[in-house]
Parts: sequence; structure tokens; C-alpha cells
Amino acid sequence: MTTAHPSRRPEPVHAGRMAPLAVLPVFLKLGGRRVIVAGGDAAAAWKAELLAAAGAEVAVYATDPADEMTALAEGGLTGGVILHRRPWTVDVFAGAVFAVGAIADEVEARAFRDAARAAGVPVNIVDQPELCDVQFGGIVNRSPLVIGISTDGAAPVFGQAIRTRIETILPQGLARWAAAAKTWRLALQARRLPFHARRRFWALFSLVALDRPDARPDQALADSLFQAAESARHISTGQVILVGAGPGDPELLTMKAVRALQSADVIVHDDLVAPDILDVARREAERISAGKRGHGPSCGQAEINDLVIALAGQGRRVVRLKSGDPMIFGRAGEEIAAIRAAGIPVEVVPGITAAQGAAASLGLSLTHRDHARRLQYVTGHGRDGGLPDDLDWPALADPAASTVVYMPGRTWVDMAETLLRHGVRADLPAVAVANATRPDEVVIKASVATLAGRLASERFAGPLIILYGEAFGEDATARAASASAMPGAFAPCLHRAAAPFS
Ligand code: SAH
Repeated sequence: MTTAHPSRRPEPVHAGRMAPLAVLPVFLKLGGRRVIVAGGDAAAAWKAELLAAAGAEVAVYATDPADEMTALAEGGLTGGVILHRRPWTVDVFAGAVFAVGAIADEVEARAFRDAARAAGVPVNIVDQPELCDVQFGGIVNRSPLVIGISTDGAAPVFGQAIRTRIETILPQGLARWAAAAKTWRLALQARRLPFHARRRFWALFSLVALDRPDARPDQALADSLFQAAESARHISTGQVILVGAGPGDPELLTMKAVRALQSADVIVHDDLVAPDILDVARREAERISAGKRGHGPSCGQAEINDLVIALAGQGRRVVRLKSGDPMIFGRAGEEIAAIRAAGIPVEVVPGITAAQGAAASLGLSLTHRDHARRLQYVTGHGRDGGLPDDLDWPALADPAASTVVYMPGRTWVDMAETLLRHGVRADLPAVAVANATRPDEVVIKASVATLAGRLASERFAGPLIILYGEAFGEDATARAASASAMPGAFAPCLHRAAAPFS
């Protein structure tokens, strides 16, 4: 972990943090544009039909076209398919924006690809992905809402299954809503509303569309949405939402957190927030890394407060994204006070704290009827980077408590020694969990006396917490299991189940 320099302003780092993509889904406008299809078999006919459906002027070159192709060319689709009964030549690419070769012969397919490329035209060769600049994906058609699916050629059948799944969850009626959106967008633009009012329009539109996909998006509805947007015209919507990102697994985000991330204008996040979480956020949202880590005397907190307040002051919706739960060792108190003092509304969305994430991964309860009636979260990191000097050692040495130490990395050695001096059993279970709930999670099970040595010998990076207490031993788990397996253990439940309404 690094130490933030106290006097340095946090540099807004615009982290892209996009996970690698095998292919880039782009949506090509083909209306009235020339597209070449070489080959005349059924596969070529299907591609030609697809391209024509997207409005292209399709020029097919085939010496011996299949019936499907001749039927298509005679059918007079919008955009049109024009069949040339001759082989393709290098001059056919002039003015084309895209070329498809349904050419089984590899030598000819390569020649076609090279000629297309030489003319600056991207190319697809049917069933030969290694020769393609562009691949066709699966399509879910609710045009103008169009969804493309690709597995980058890895598993077309899997792609089909996904397409079927999406087909079943997206009602056909959404096509009408997407078409209405196209029309209403122009009327909305003409009203010259500020950004937040326009967004209010689209947020309400989306809610109604998803709630009543089969309803008709009529003028009465448009009027009420326009009215709602107008009523937001003069409201300054600048606000800050402190959002708990959880320990790392994006599935552990609350629905509220997802919604906040997807409607944010700007996200100011700590370094500890896992990259996967930022992937959930609205693509257009500006991402600013506040570069804050657990350690360091001041961590530039005042500068972060200023930054967040300045952004919200511009009328923007700011998500202040903190790892775990924002209210646990997140300096949320200071941020909330500063934001409120600046007269900006602030809201908090809780998150799964690291201790809960770790307990879930371990499958160990933080409390335990026999071993831990008390649960305490403590920081191992004081203002000067050492152990906080006001720790309550008798409480931390309480054998009937479960204790979770946040930020223990630098001080655990001292902490363990001090605990032993305060009478903690050397073999009291102590478990370290690094990167809890993330793919690179590391668990080290030891005891208060041995954990420091184990940590020194293991290699890992990332946030770490330590949990100690009787509840974290194998014993506690085993005893709990045998207690519930005892004859009669379920008797009270059975009794209640027999008379559920009494
Ligand atoms: N608000 C956070 C804690 C912030 S303090 C929460 O509720 O979890 C930062 C410390 O949290 C780290 O030093 C580490 O001790 C702990 N932490 C955060 N995420 C973690 C994770 N995924 N695995 C282990 N520890 C984590």
C-alpha cells in the first residue's frame, strides 16, 4: 500500500479501467450505402437479406446463384439487392462501405479480402473468422432497439442460447418504445432543457417502457413526460451519494448502488474500489480516482471534500464510491459534514463491509451462540501509521468476542504481541483474508501467535483484514454441526411447523 502525500492535491485520474474486449460491438448505418456480397449460395443470400434489411444497396456478384439469391434479387426489398451474374473483380469495391465474401475456397477468399482491404473496405468472410475484419453477431431485433451478441467465434451455440434468453426477457413491444424515443427526442431537444431535466425525461420514459412494454407510447404520455421534465428545468440537481462498493464482487452491490452508479454524472472513487465495480457504472460517467489508500496521515481528505463539493456545485450528480460500507472506516462522517456544510444534499447507500464479505467467503459466522456474543470492528491503523494509541486492550482480548481488524497490514505484529500480553491464548484462531470476495482472494488460517509469521512468508497484494476469536476455529464449526445433528435438535421447529397458524 502506498502513502498519499498530505500536501499533494489529489490528481483527478480519469481511469478508463475497461476490461479487455475480444471485439468492439459497433452499429453500422447502412441506409443507402453500397455493400458487396461475393458468392451466391444460401449463406450469401441470408447475408444479403440481412444487409438489405439494414437499408444497404447490396451488389451481389455470383456466376451461379442459388434460388434463394435469385428470389431475393427479384423480390425488391427496400434498399435493394442487385444481382450481377459474374465473378467479383477488384473494381467492384469502389464506393463500398463493407464487403462480405461467401467464398469457400481459401485462396479466393484471401484474394477477396486483400482486394477489399486495398480499397479500404472492411470485410467479412462467411465461416472463416480468421479472415474477417468484421464478424456478424447474433441479433435481437426490436428495431430501432438492436442488440448484438458475439462470443468472438468461441461458441456460436452458446451465443444462440444467450440470444434466446434475451429474446424471452425483452418484450416485442419495446420496439414501439424505441421508435417513440426517436420521435420524442427531437421534440425534447427543441425545448432546450438543461441536461438534468432531459435526463429526468429519459429516466421516466425508461421506467414506464420497462414497466408497460406492451402499452402504446401515445401523445398523452409524451405530454406528461415533457411536463415532468419542464418542472425540473429550474431545479439544481447537484447532489452527492456516498455509495458502498462492497468488498469487490460486483454481485454484492445493492440494487440502489447499481442504480446510483448507472445514473451518475461523475464518480469519485477510492483506489480500493475493485475495477469490476466501475464496469457497472454508466459508460459516460466521468471517473475520478481520488487516489486515497488506507494508510497515510491525512490522505488529502480536505481536497477530496473540496473536489466532491465543487463537482456537485456544478449541478452534477456525484457518486462518492467507497469500498465496503461507506460508514465503516471510510471517513464518511467528515465527508458528510463538509458536503452538508456546503448546502449540498447528501445521501448514503450502504454496502457489504469487508468483514461480512470475508465471513461469507469463509463460511464462518461472525457471531456464535457459544463463542462470540459480541462483535467488534477495530482499525489497526492510527493517525501516524502505527497502532492507534487509544485501543481498548481488555476489550480486544475478550475471549467471548469476535474481532475484525481493518487495515492490519503494518501493525498486526505489534497487535498480536500486545494481545498475548493481555492474556489472549496463543492458539486462539486468527484468519487473514486478502482480497475478500474477489477472484484473487487469499485465506490464511492460523492463530494469534502464528499468523504474523504466516503473513510474512505468503506472497499476496491487495486489501487485507484479520479476524480472530473462538468463532473462527474449526472447533466452533464442528461443534455447531454436531449440536444440530443431535437427536431432537429440530424438535421445536417441527412443533411449530405442525401448527403454523396457531
Ligand atoms: N469501508 C470499508 C473499509 C475501508 S478501510 C469496508 O467497509 O470494508 C480499508 C480496509 O478495509 C483495508 O485496509 C482492508 O483492511 C479492508 N478491506 C477492504 N476491502 C477488502 C477486501 N476485499 N478484502 C479484505 N479486506 C478489505
